[in-house]
Amino acid sequence: MERAEPQEFEVAITSAISAPEAFGASFDAAPSAETLELGSGLEGDPALAFRRTLGMFATGVTVLTARVAEQVHGMTANAFMSVSLSPPLVLISIDRRAKMGALLHEGTRFGVSVLEARQTELSDRFAGRIADDIPEPAFEVVHETPLVEGALAHLVARVVRSYWGGDHSLFVGQVEFARYGEGRPLLFHGGRYERLVEDARVFSMLPEELLEPILALGEAREYVDGQSIMRAGERGAELLLVVAGLVRVERPGRSLTLGPGELIGEIEVLDPGGGRIADIFAVGSVRCLTVTRERLVAALEANPRAAIALIEVLAARFRETA
Ligand code: FAD
Repeated sequence: MERAEPQEFEVAITSAISAPEAFGASFDAAPSAETLELGSGLEGDPALAFRRTLGMFATGVTVLTARVAEQVHGMTANAFMSVSLSPPLVLISIDRRAKMGALLHEGTRFGVSVLEARQTELSDRFAGRIADDIPEPAFEVVHETPLVEGALAHLVARVVRSYWGGDHSLFVGQVEFARYGEGRPLLFHGGRYERLVEDARVFSMLPEELLEPILALGEAREYVDGQSIMRAGERGAELLLVVAGLVRVERPGRSLTLGPGELIGEIEVLDPGGGRIADIFAVGSVRCLTVTRERLVAALEANPRAAIALIEVLAARFRETA
């Protein structure tokens, strides 16, 4: 996967937090215990049902880090959320039995590394789920705070408030450093890892002997630097093969550059009603082969082997998400 230069910025602290009353109500007092009512069909252990209910909320996965003298301590956490943009605040929730909780108090810094889709092993490592004998994780130090290398995004925050959170402790951190790169996040849902299926490859998964006759029906088209090749939302009536030059694919929260041999518009050409899913521009001069939907359909009708192979690709894609 392509990873562009990470974007980095120091966060301007616009209004420092000083007065506790700025947070409104006091969180010191524990609310009285009330019985948890379960919806119909949810029998058995209420704690488990509650946990499973919460597990329906899909999250990303982070590794929280803190420095202890010259040592680094890390733990996996998905209870991370943004709180405020100005001042920049985030919140983490830590089990009171976790070592990490004992390391944090007002004034200490912690790092947040938002894991990338392939970093499941790191997540397991920092959750104590696998043996420590896998390769040592690598850290970089920013604002005297360790951050896990290769993560999708990094933050360094200083604890400004901590709260009672039942069997967890809540820490609000004022963010001092933030940075993100490109890639896909690791997700956690229903107690297991998930990932976004954004891979737009369909035709490019076909064996060469089936793909070539389809692309042979294409017509050459040239684009100049900055010219729009596809616009998000417009009807996807063509499949394009990049023959020469580079194209920039822009999607909300994600962008990447593709070069010769890459196909674009593979999904939309099969589902033209949904519209294009990205804006695509030429970077420098670009030459493409375009195959219209009509020609594509005709090619598939003429070659049932190619049509079946395409169905197999799509079925495998369903299996990934089932
Ligand atoms: P330990 O259990 O001692 O450490 C955690 C693991 O990290 C150990 O295996 C340790 O060897 C390893 N480790 C620590 N530092 C280093 C280092 N420098 N180099 C190499 N390895 C190191 N718990 C919460 O409280 N809040 C959450 O939001 C939360 N979310 C979670 C989300 C997921 C997806 C998972 C899998 C677990 C989550 N947990 C959460 C559970 C939490 O990660 C574990 O309970 C964890 O073991 C607590 O860590 P600890 O601070 O007690 O330290």
